[in-house]
Amino acid sequence: MPDVSAAAGVQRVKYLEEQASKFAPAVILFGSPGSGKGTQAKLLRRCLQGPHISTGDMLRQHISEGDEIGRNVQGVMKSGRLVSDDLANHLVEERLQHDDCSSGVILDGYPRTINQAGVLLEMTKRHRFQPAVVHLVVDYEKIVARLSGRRQCPVCGTLYSVTTNPPKIAGICDLDGAALVTREDDRESVIRERLEQYELQTRPILEYFRQTDVPMIEIDGQGSTPEEIMQQVCGALAASGLIAASAVDALSCSEANVRQ
Ligand code: AMP
Repeated sequence: MPDVSAAAGVQRVKYLEEQASKFAPAVILFGSPGSGKGTQAKLLRRCLQGPHISTGDMLRQHISEGDEIGRNVQGVMKSGRLVSDDLANHLVEERLQHDDCSSGVILDGYPRTINQAGVLLEMTKRHRFQPAVVHLVVDYEKIVARLSGRRQCPVCGTLYSVTTNPPKIAGICDLDGAALVTREDDRESVIRERLEQYELQTRPILEYFRQTDVPMIEIDGQGSTPEEIMQQVCGALAASGLIAASAVDALSCSEANVRQ
């Protein structure tokens, strides 16, 4: 008699390997403005292959190029409101089809509305990604202080904080020596508008994702260094099967709260 259960087991492993090779992870970094998404997106490239896709950075790029998209969104972005769903969806769908996304992507600042979340789930099916939400949980009270102390390198995009993560020389990027800038939308009145938009439009997405089978990982986004938070996120992604355990071997991973 052939060993049916062993054969079924082998088949199942093959199936899982096939799925893993077909579906690259699309990590959705979720959290309010100032929760550390941008910093984590850059650090996470140590355990996750694939580009950091930030709709905010893409839009700022259009503004600095002065093209039609840039001219159209400039006013909306300065005020802290959101650009249209159609534009955000279009930018992401186009970007996901680039060759460098074949091993996975890190999404930062997208989706920001329920509409965008629904469109993203369709896109991930169409383009064969396995979505997973990483929610960086931070204390709301600390956000305004954190955001108004934020500085960015206009050349390489590295983010600093004058209080928690300052550059070695004040006002100068450690990596390329450029003078750091405060983003227009990190000014205090605009920060309040951005937080309001987050509460109204973006936070409800969490509830939306909870009703799907998208894995959701919750990580405390404060009280640890950015490096330690990155290690927790990588460990949680490996524990939920989204990235290979070998990708985090070099990192000492701590516990994280994972819901599948
Ligand atoms: P961020 O760099 O992600 O904080 O985004 C900066 C600004 O870009 C936001 O305040 C919005 O005006 C705009 N923006 C970025 N991503 C989106 C998105 N997914 N949907 C709508 N507006 C966005």
